[in-house]
Amino acid sequence: MEHKKYSKATDAVWAGEDDPSFRGAVTTPVVSSVAFAYTDLDEWYDVATGRAGGFIYSRNTNPTVAALEEKIRVLENAGAATAFATGMAAISNTLFTFLKPGRRVVSIKDTYGGTSRLFLDFFPAYNVEVKLCETGNHEEMELEIAKGCDLVYLETPTNPTLKIIDIQGIASAAKKAGAIVVVDNTFATPINQNPLELGADLVVHSATKYLCGHSDAMGGLLAGRKDLVQQVFQFREINGASLQADPAYMIARGMKTLDLRVSRQNESALKIARYLKAHPRISDVFYPGLESHKDHAVAKAQMRGFGGMLSFVIDGGYDLVEKFLPSLKLTHLAASLGSVSTLAGPPRTTSHVELSAEQRALLGIPEGLVRYSVGIESADDLLDDLEQGLKRL
Ligand code: PLP
Repeated sequence: MEHKKYSKATDAVWAGEDDPSFRGAVTTPVVSSVAFAYTDLDEWYDVATGRAGGFIYSRNTNPTVAALEEKIRVLENAGAATAFATGMAAISNTLFTFLKPGRRVVSIKDTYGGTSRLFLDFFPAYNVEVKLCETGNHEEMELEIAKGCDLVYLETPTNPTLKIIDIQGIASAAKKAGAIVVVDNTFATPINQNPLELGADLVVHSATKYLCGHSDAMGGLLAGRKDLVQQVFQFREINGASLQADPAYMIARGMKTLDLRVSRQNESALKIARYLKAHPRISDVFYPGLESHKDHAVAKAQMRGFGGMLSFVIDGGYDLVEKFLPSLKLTHLAASLGSVSTLAGPPRTTSHVELSAEQRALLGIPEGLVRYSVGIESADDLLDDLEQGLKRL
């Protein structure tokens, strides 16, 4: 689908679905075959050497996976895309492709826990210099980038306090330093934000979250500049972190309703954030769609919607969180996010459990913080549920 004239809602449904080998199937076929047979050895040779398109072995490429890759390529307006077994596989393959010994990466302190462990525990052992800046301190970040670096890694909005990074500003500093820019777009999704249009070179997704949208398949996606995606693809082919056809189908199926789901989640999250902001038992609400959010102006400039993730602080600390969360009837208390059903959890015992209270405080994570991933249920039902829970405190 070489076009840009359709809306995201249309591309999410149609992109990647027109492979002639699908023979008119009205939904993505699941091609489970591990290998693809040839009767003509010259044709096999041409496909193997990249002279002709086609499939040889599913660790490298597979028709169902290729359909999913095309969907994200179109939705992110990218030159190329490639898929992985999980979001962390997409992130680690991308980082290990470009961060060789002696190179330098600049990122933020608030990246997803797994990413942050790569930066803190793994890359230093490979003689990669890692500089993690205070999230939101753009001056510090630009200064560190100007000192010289090979890769700038961003995530926005961040987890769990929904800080916003000015992608355009940081990308232009990175360009001057000759660094490539990678953005984790999991929270925003391509419905709300397209980092490549703001100057990033590569976008990564945990497809396990909003793209799949139903908490029933794991995957990771990378999209961006063709030459860069190609390099990561070559590494992934060999280390084997490939996505299988079954989860690829589940994710592609989920993505067909991405626009509907995310539009609902944007709307409901804003209503819920406003309700919580006015509630006497809530001392703080983090949602980039609120005018009071410190990065609201940047969010407004670079996002089309503010997303379905928010977090809030229960006045009274963790003891009250323990009382409040189990009282919610329409919320799974679970670690993931971006699903059709509402999910919530306290960062203190989930994503940031390995940190001390002091370390969490340094990251601006209060002990009474609740992370809340809004599902596609009726916003009124979710508000009633929150109300009955807060009344018990
Ligand atoms: N990036 C973000 C922002 C995430 O929230 C997650 C998982 O929660 C990941 C990456 C990792 O994705 P996965 O769990 O699919 O490996």
